[in-house]
Amino acid sequence: MSLNNQGRPTHVGEVGDSFRPTTFTGNRGLDMEEPLIFEFGRLDNTGVDLDEPESFESELGGHERTNELGLPGLAEPEAMRHYVRLSRNNYAIDSGLYPLGSCTMKHNPRLNEKMARLPGFGDIHPLQPASTVPGALELIDELAHWLMVTTGTSAVAMSPKAGAHGELCGMMAIKAAHTANGRKPEIVLVPESAHGTNPATAALLGYKVVAIDAKDDGTVDLDALKTTIAKHEGNIAGIMLTNPNTCGLFERDVMTIADLIHEAGGYFYCDGANFNAIVGKARPGDLGVDAMHINLHKTFSTPHGGGGPGSGPVVLSDRLAPYAPLPFIRKTDAGLELVETDAQTKGDEKPFGRMTAFHGQMGMYVRALSYMMSHGSDGLKQASEDAVLNANYVRVGLQDIMSLPFGERPCMHEVLFDDSFLKDTGVTTLDFAKAMIDEGYHPMTMYFPLVVHGAMLIEPTESESRAALDLFVATMRDLVLSAKRGETERFAGAPYLAPRRRLDETGAARKPILKWTEPAPAEVTPVAAE
Ligand SMILES: *Cc1c(COP(=O)(O)O)cnc(C)c1O
Repeated sequence: MSLNNQGRPTHVGEVGDSFRPTTFTGNRGLDMEEPLIFEFGRLDNTGVDLDEPESFESELGGHERTNELGLPGLAEPEAMRHYVRLSRNNYAIDSGLYPLGSCTMKHNPRLNEKMARLPGFGDIHPLQPASTVPGALELIDELAHWLMVTTGTSAVAMSPKAGAHGELCGMMAIKAAHTANGRKPEIVLVPESAHGTNPATAALLGYKVVAIDAKDDGTVDLDALKTTIAKHEGNIAGIMLTNPNTCGLFERDVMTIADLIHEAGGYFYCDGANFNAIVGKARPGDLGVDAMHINLHKTFSTPHGGGGPGSGPVVLSDRLAPYAPLPFIRKTDAGLELVETDAQTKGDEKPFGRMTAFHGQMGMYVRALSYMMSHGSDGLKQASEDAVLNANYVRVGLQDIMSLPFGERPCMHEVLFDDSFLKDTGVTTLDFAKAMIDEGYHPMTMYFPLVVHGAMLIEPTESESRAALDLFVATMRDLVLSAKRGETERFAGAPYLAPRRRLDETGAARKPILKWTEPAPAEVTPVAAE
């Protein structure tokens, strides 16, 4: 049996099920088979001993519960083991390279966590009077300041809780601005490579979405844009453009696009999810952007995915600033004020409403600011340069045996391959991604963007070392060559070595089973007395 340098078998025949002994417990060494808590928790078990209450008279007027609560009871160590074992089934940026394109899965420095847990930040409550949390307001205001500086804009709405929520916020500001100007345009332009959240946001606000074609090089077709604008003259609310775009390419005509949209009476919404590629290099405000969300959980390294809540502040141009939603912080000579209601607004402040119950994701603000301050402006710029360098390192390492839909030109922070290199191998993009799991990698983003057939979008981020990238490239090369040699078995049943084999993902999405129902007790056949 041949082994790779991690001591794991490299060839298909030796990787299959027969490779593993069947165990009595169903566990595979440290890979525990963990049941649902309902399956092994017992009603008569508890982690705490409470004394029997003294006799008392219920004041619930007969509404008290008479049956069992039905919650599974566990001893304290059992509860702990359950969650620790489940957590070990989780692939995380802390366990390996996470090349999920479009998601910017970068290292979350522990310094950020330490700052977020300082009692003055960690223990405050959103219902505390603003007068008792001046430090928190100052931190939000300082983060807002640096977000405006890095983007070249003059206002920022801090409260949105994710990128998609930020899109909604920015587009609501755009809608409010049109309404204030006595206009009711109906159309939002969205390039065909857009992230699905862009057209969804526009549609949610009642706009009609019109797609703009891409050129063969993967960027917006200016002629198509001009024709579409002319066709819908006077009815264009704006454009939602991702830059760098979802093909990992910088839209070089971005300033012309901004001019065309502004001349047509529309606003320029930029999806800023890919900001990690250009921090310190280009400022969206200088490119004509009117509104852009920033995924703090991507660019500014706060945890995401299963790891924590997102945060999607939206920077706004002068023209949209007055419509920023409540709550917001106002600077006065006496210090910072929290504006929470319409009654408190002044001057040209015309908030379109409110996006969230409270003030946004405070913990993420602390993490993002701590990331920014620990890097400084030179460090943030370097992070972007390294992210782009790493993606191009992967591109060059793989371009001779995988296929690039837009040719061998430099990419930004992510590199997009398509599946034409798998043609006639009998291996699909999905199979290929699943075989990466056996190699200990989270798969790259698959089948997105939709404009490219069998897309494979790889984003290593800046936080991977050259050694980590070399191993990744070598692994990918091994998989490609294996597919080309016709070793379909390695792919068709993959993953072989994960806690679960190939899952019915469509079934899980379309018909999720969200509620555990207790199985009927097993029938016991009475044993006849002798
Ligand atoms: C991640 C992403 C979004 C959505 O951001 P969420 O924080 O997941 O809501 C939107 N557009 C692009 C291009 C993205 O990569």
